[in-house]
Amino acid sequence: MLVVKIGGSIQKDENDFSLISNKVRKYVDGQDKVFVVTSAIKGVTNELIKATENRDMAVDIVGEIYDKHIKLLSRLSDGPVFEETFKEISKLADELFKIAWSIRVLDEITPKVRDYILSFGERMASLLLNAILKSARLDSEAYPDSPLITDSNFGEANVIESLTMNEINKLLKLKSKIVVLPGFIGKTTLHRFTTIGRGGSDYTATMLGKLLNVDKVRLITEVPGIMTADPRRFPGSKTIRRLSLEEAIELAQMGAKRLHPRTFEPMISTDMQVIIEGLYEEGDTTILGSCDGDGGLKGISVIDDVKMISVEGTKIVGKIGSAARVMESAKEAGVNIISISQPISETKISLVINERDVNPLTKKLEELKDVDAIDVEDVAAVSVVGCGLKKWEAFREVEKVAMGYDIFSISRGLGNVSSTFIVPRNEGDKLARSLHEVVLKWTG
Ligand code: ASP
Ligand code: MG
Repeated sequence: MLVVKIGGSIQKDENDFSLISNKVRKYVDGQDKVFVVTSAIKGVTNELIKATENRDMAVDIVGEIYDKHIKLLSRLSDGPVFEETFKEISKLADELFKIAWSIRVLDEITPKVRDYILSFGERMASLLLNAILKSARLDSEAYPDSPLITDSNFGEANVIESLTMNEINKLLKLKSKIVVLPGFIGKTTLHRFTTIGRGGSDYTATMLGKLLNVDKVRLITEVPGIMTADPRRFPGSKTIRRLSLEEAIELAQMGAKRLHPRTFEPMISTDMQVIIEGLYEEGDTTILGSCDGDGGLKGISVIDDVKMISVEGTKIVGKIGSAARVMESAKEAGVNIISISQPISETKISLVINERDVNPLTKKLEELKDVDAIDVEDVAAVSVVGCGLKKWEAFREVEKVAMGYDIFSISRGLGNVSSTFIVPRNEGDKLARSLHEVVLKWTG
């Protein structure tokens, strides 16, 4: 049994779908069952979000989405498969049109309605992909409902594994060798659709993999695996062949392909293997096991559009609750903290945040007593990831390079397999390039 996830960005035209059918055919061989998890086809989730934000355009947007699916369907399927799927997609589209009309008059869209609207992307995609696989003479059926039972935290719902097990049993009873189902969406016990966060289809696939107890989950995407750095910016970047689970969790947010932060969580305490592979180019990354004596470095990431906001004051020193109040301000302002640092003199607390969050956070911090100054600086965050950082040799080399820069802070991640350096923004690119060189030298 195998779980294969097909990304949305690789579902746009006939060529893509013919490559996808070939891949699925290859993987079905020798398997008793293959669960194909699909994202919404290229651009659709973004368009649906646009529809919820620009309600006057919603009806037109739904029209375009419907057209896109039907065009692909008519080019890539025929006969009874076409007719049946045409009806099913049209039925979903009708429902979506009705919602699009009604949200024009609504003042506000609730997170529940938003998730319901977003669910159509993956549901339509599962019908389309199934029709295409069937037309390629594969034994497939669609399951356009979500097998994931979640809480009702709409927009970022959490899977309830114990309740999902019943749905998994239903899935296992389906007759066809291939079952195509939607990623990204779940449903509550009251059958309301939820979504599990942007890019969530990968997480759907690994979660299903865990609950189905499979050996392997394949995530098929645009890029041939996870790379040592973003190849558009760092020429010389290579595909990383093998990653431990800790490294993969640290790297999930970096590079050309950003993964859902919880993608690898279902691998914890299983021996499931996850393979990330390209549709267009050969190359893959296998994620398996833990560091186990691996002394290598794997990759770097750089974020250089962030700011460091520092709160200074002589009266905040040695007071229990000073840091808590600064963090509380961030929470109240709805600001995500990327990195935190404080010297032992306790005279200053610095937070690295996104640029757009500077104004709301500054306003909140100004309300605090005992603060003498609030200072904002342009910074870059450069991270290195690799099990080798647990060991003296690789870590020392990384530090030696970093010491040539004006470092504001260093912090280490999960199991010490990552180090993040906060430096002035104009030094970020150079530091990232130098550290990438070190990584390439230490890549096994
Ligand atoms: N379609 C969803 C998104 O664009 C989920 C996914 O692609 O994984 O975020
Ligand atoms: Mg996607």
